[in-house]
Amino acid sequence: MITKQQVEAFGSIETPFYFYDMDLLRQTLDSYKAQIDKYGYNAHYALKANANDRILDTIRSYGLGADCVSGNEVKLAVRSGFDPQKIVYAGVGKSDKEIRAALRAGIFSFNCESVPEIQIINDLAAGMGKKARISIRVNPDIDAHTHKYISTGLKENKFGISPWAFQDVAGLLARCTHIEFLGLHFHVGSQITELPVFALLCRRVEELQQWFIEHRIPVRNLNLGGGLGINYQDPNGDPVAHFADYFDTIHRNLVVRPGQNVHFEPGRALVGQCGHLISRVLYVKVGKEKKFAILDAGMNDLIRPALYQAHHAIENLSSTGRKLRYDVVGPVCESSDCWGQKRLVSRCERGDLFAIHSAGAYGQVMAMKYNQRDLAKAVYSDDLK
Ligand SMILES: *Cc1c(COP(=O)(O)O)cnc(C)c1O
Repeated sequence: MITKQQVEAFGSIETPFYFYDMDLLRQTLDSYKAQIDKYGYNAHYALKANANDRILDTIRSYGLGADCVSGNEVKLAVRSGFDPQKIVYAGVGKSDKEIRAALRAGIFSFNCESVPEIQIINDLAAGMGKKARISIRVNPDIDAHTHKYISTGLKENKFGISPWAFQDVAGLLARCTHIEFLGLHFHVGSQITELPVFALLCRRVEELQQWFIEHRIPVRNLNLGGGLGINYQDPNGDPVAHFADYFDTIHRNLVVRPGQNVHFEPGRALVGQCGHLISRVLYVKVGKEKKFAILDAGMNDLIRPALYQAHHAIENLSSTGRKLRYDVVGPVCESSDCWGQKRLVSRCERGDLFAIHSAGAYGQVMAMKYNQRDLAKAVYSDDLK
């Protein structure tokens, strides 16, 4: 919830900007940390959700590791002080340069997404006189019941290694002398709000690890990835993701063998709600059939609605007056640059401040300069006090 004092302070700041509520971030991390400590689980924050220095500092201070999907993310994680021993690195297209850099950094695990990648990592590690720790990202063929662009665990998705290739994996593991096998990795999608999806994942993990046990390949680690969703409909009423329910579901459904470690890779659920995109109304355009509220923030600042048809709650921070229906749109020359159609928002006029909520994850980090627009800056609640 954005406070009155904060809205007052916004008055002198150039819009649009991202506003980060650091108290909410800490509250979210307190809740998350309590849960993983309760079960003795390990967590690696998915940097791609939001890679701002201040956010990374705060998350690192809670003892979390980092989940990276590119060589530059690995570099950033190391530079931000994350323990290399807690860095995991996934991605279907790791380049030789990226693999070498990660080997030099001494990361905890490469999460391998294809059979040829295992061979390449082995060969590159051999060339450097190192041993690479790897896990196999398995494609468990699970429907995450989320938008198709953020589903990753179906067999038609490009991610992970399918079970029919396990025999090839086993052959490679036996031959590759510069590889140390740690275990299995899964990540089936993002913005998953139906907990039964995670229960199903746990059962698939058990089925799939049976294959390795039968082939006498020890599975020391189980990494269940991220994907827990947040409440985009009611961010003010429900600001912290439901970690207790999520981990209770995992705990009740996942078979953990003695000595096995369980890992997670939360992204959105940690940072989604602490970020808001703050914008001003430039024009109210009254048509015959509808009214448009035209904001100075556009799809280049937050691409989720245009890219994933995502819903973001919109609030007029300058007025609590009667609510009217507006098509709330951005200034970019694309019809998909639309924040929402027929949204109920307090009657607005030029200069009113709007908040587009739940913009902390996959917001600023995906910003671009399309239409030669400036990149919006970040403002942190700690600096307004
Ligand atoms: C993006 C990603 C995550 C984080 O996903 P969220 O839905 O933001 O929790 C975790 N693991 C991998 C491998 C990812 O690519």
